Amino acid sequence: MRTTYRGGMNQDAKYQINRINLHTLRNRQEQRVIEAMRKLLPQAEDFCGCRICMEDIYAAALSKLPAQYVPNGSLVVRRVGPSDSDIEQIVHGVLDQVRLHPNHSQTGNEAR
Ligand SMILES: [Zn+2]
Repeated sequence: MRTTYRGGMNQDAKYQINRINLHTLRNRQEQRVIEAMRKLLPQAEDFCGCRICMEDIYAAALSKLPAQYVPNGSLVVRRVGPSDSDIEQIVHGVLDQVRLHPNHSQTGNEAR
């Protein structure tokens, strides 16, 4: 039996098993961290806001949270794990760290 990847060997193909693609199954904390970032970023003074800084905050915040994967077809969304304010506190801490010590030189203009 041959396995064919529809759409070529793109990023999604790494997540493909037979005809099933698992790429869309996301860690539930991802959306919650993004929501916290949307809320807190406008309040941060002198924040660079380039891709490197945004990704650093996103990755660091997610690394501090327990991953929680929920199947797309699942109707049950259990409210377990960290609360919204826990997540905001973590994002706030990471944001401050990246804001004061960005992982690139100077303004980050070249990374925008
Ligand atoms: Zn930056």
